[in-house]
Amino acid sequence: MLDLNDYITSIPDFPEKGVIFRDITPLWGDPKAYAEATRRITHFAKMRDVNVVVGPESRGFLVGAPVANELGTGIVLARKPGKLPRETVSEKYTLEYGEAALEMHKDAIKPGEKVLITDDLLATGGTIAAAIKLVESLGGIVAGLAFMIELKDLNGREKLEGYDILSLMSY
Ligand code: AMP
Repeated sequence: MLDLNDYITSIPDFPEKGVIFRDITPLWGDPKAYAEATRRITHFAKMRDVNVVVGPESRGFLVGAPVANELGTGIVLARKPGKLPRETVSEKYTLEYGEAALEMHKDAIKPGEKVLITDDLLATGGTIAAAIKLVESLGGIVAGLAFMIELKDLNGREKLEGYDILSLMSY
């Protein structure tokens, strides 16, 4: 069986000293590995009757778009401030250094829709916690969270307690 870990490259001290950067680009560059990752996340979403996928900019799009396509649903973009052209809802969150925010179109999710939120990597969970708040503020039900990689030491799961999480690989 295909081992997705074979398609992840670990780069020490990037983008700064002490961080091991987990590079997923070899996986996205390989059609079989990308399809396998998509297949596993799609299976998780099907079990939860997902109606729509949400991905945070920008690597969340790469995880979510093929899954949405396989499920036969749409994808909703959670973008950095100022990128979406119509009325938005916005949520700030803290990064290691400073603050960031995510925005979604106000009409992107209908109340009661079951949402799968996807991202490349779960670190502290700040990004996904903000995406969850946006979805729930519009009346969506977060049916699951799916990541390619989870960094266990950073305890992102604690911030996401009560939500159903799939991570394809962990470090
Ligand atoms: P967080 O909000 O802390 O969960 O961080 C989420 C985002 O930061 C992920 O979607 C990644 O794109 C990026 N990130 C954080 N740590 C790493 C890492 N060690 N390797 C690669 N990407 C990372």
